[in-house]
Amino acid sequence: MTTTAPSAHAALAPEGIGPIDRQRQLEVLQALRAHLPGDCLLVHAEDTRPYECDALTMFRQVPMLVALPRTEQQVVAILRTCHRMQVPVVPRGAGTSLSGGALPHARGVLLSMARFDRIVSIDPLARIAVVQPGVRNLAISEQAARHGLFYAPDPSSQIACTIGGNVAENSGGVHCVKYGLTIHNVMRARAVLSDGSIALFGSEALDSPGLDLLSVLIGSEGMLAVVTEVSVRLLPKPQLARCVMASFDDVEAAGNAVAALIGAGIIPAGLEMMDRAAVAMVEPFAQAGYDLAAAAILLCESDGTPEEVADEVERMEQVLRQAGATALSVSRDEAERLKFWAGRKNAFPAAGRVSPDYYCTDGTIPRKRLGEVLKAIAAMESKYGLRCPNVFHAGDGNLHPLVLYDASDPDSLARAEAFGAEILELCVRVGGTVTGEHGVGVEKLDTMCAQFDAATMQAFFGVRKAFDPAGILNPGKAIW
Ligand SMILES: Cc1cc2nc3c(=O)[nH]c(=O)nc-3n(C[C@H](O)[C@H](O)[C@H](O)COP(=O)(O)OP(=O)(O)OC[C@H]3O[C@@H](n4cnc5c(N)ncnc54)[C@H](O)[C@@H]3O)c2cc1C
Repeated sequence: MTTTAPSAHAALAPEGIGPIDRQRQLEVLQALRAHLPGDCLLVHAEDTRPYECDALTMFRQVPMLVALPRTEQQVVAILRTCHRMQVPVVPRGAGTSLSGGALPHARGVLLSMARFDRIVSIDPLARIAVVQPGVRNLAISEQAARHGLFYAPDPSSQIACTIGGNVAENSGGVHCVKYGLTIHNVMRARAVLSDGSIALFGSEALDSPGLDLLSVLIGSEGMLAVVTEVSVRLLPKPQLARCVMASFDDVEAAGNAVAALIGAGIIPAGLEMMDRAAVAMVEPFAQAGYDLAAAAILLCESDGTPEEVADEVERMEQVLRQAGATALSVSRDEAERLKFWAGRKNAFPAAGRVSPDYYCTDGTIPRKRLGEVLKAIAAMESKYGLRCPNVFHAGDGNLHPLVLYDASDPDSLARAEAFGAEILELCVRVGGTVTGEHGVGVEKLDTMCAQFDAATMQAFFGVRKAFDPAGILNPGKAIW
């Protein structure tokens, strides 16, 4: 099973792919051994092979060397050494990136932050958690729960992905429509720059003096600095959550219902959509109780006090009915709410049951264009002769069309490539972007040119150069 964009092959070729230079490997190993104990450095093929790819599995490159530091001083020493020797450094969290952000470099050090897995402190009064970058996203909410608090951004990969990766990708999730993305929930970051100096970004106050470099760091895909500590905002856990499930007999009507909900002033705690193909793919696997006859279903979550939830659910039902919902059901208890969500959360694994490979596209569009974009994607299915179930964060306008194809068939692969590219071009044409939450990595290097003009790309290069003049941090990714 791969989850990849075939087009990235072409973009990858010039940077970082190739055989390992054994002489160079030995030189770098010797230089790093002066600063790190032996168990922090891996060079043997059987040890470095597990790092050869992230969740973008079609693209693989064994790193020249893997470093597994335990302390910030060791990260500083690695970067100083690599800076002096001009060795590329690729930071890595859990390796769940779907865009190849953590793909290793043949002449580089793969810098795993996995051992930075400590929650440093939780301050329930200030509602702030200070965590190391290798802490799993879900672990923050699990630990904060004892204070009645939670960390809102919840990528579907939250059981595995790390906060360092979330910061680098500005990750989103189901709750982000109400509570914001990573960028809205991170207050401060400590990081090591490419020359080994330490910098602080943002603060635990509401505003900080100087330029807002925290916003530049968040979403920078490991190209500006290696994050070593993060302060995140915690929120009070809502007393109650209920989920409204609505069926529609027309995909465009479901898309328009999303715009109608937001237009009515409702801010759902989650607003997700699946079309008929996605429901048919998921339901036999997850048994979430989805309507197999519907052209599309919407899942709308309301959270707050029992009174707030009762009022909001009523308004949601009203808007959904007016927008043409053919059936509505509201979760009766927590178990049923989780059952409704189980299907959506298992959508990617379920794709593996119906197709040898899938390409998970990730773009955003203005919410009001959702209906027409879905219609256009349906027309592309016929054009390319490939199925494309749609699962996405409808409230954010963040599409995840899953183009189903067979990587062992070159023709199927080429059609999937063209299909994915046309979806992203469509996203840009209707006023959206080529990435919603999975980042650019190596996957979307080509489509960045469709999104941004030469002057804007030059501005990106300038920012990168200001942070990392030697260009050693994650070269070949995001803006190359
Ligand atoms: C099944 C599945 C579902 C997913 N669902 C979602 C979703 O709902 N929303 C979403 O946004 N994403 C989703 N993703 C994508 C992915 O989980 C996120 O991008 C996540 O933030 C990556 O975290 P990671 O720890 O795995 O980072 P990695 O994959 O290891 O790295 C990602 C990027 O972060 C950089 N990086 C990692 N650690 C650091 C650090 N300490 N300092 C500097 N740079 C660093 C890397 O260089 C790389 O560029 C999903 C992935 C999968 C496989």
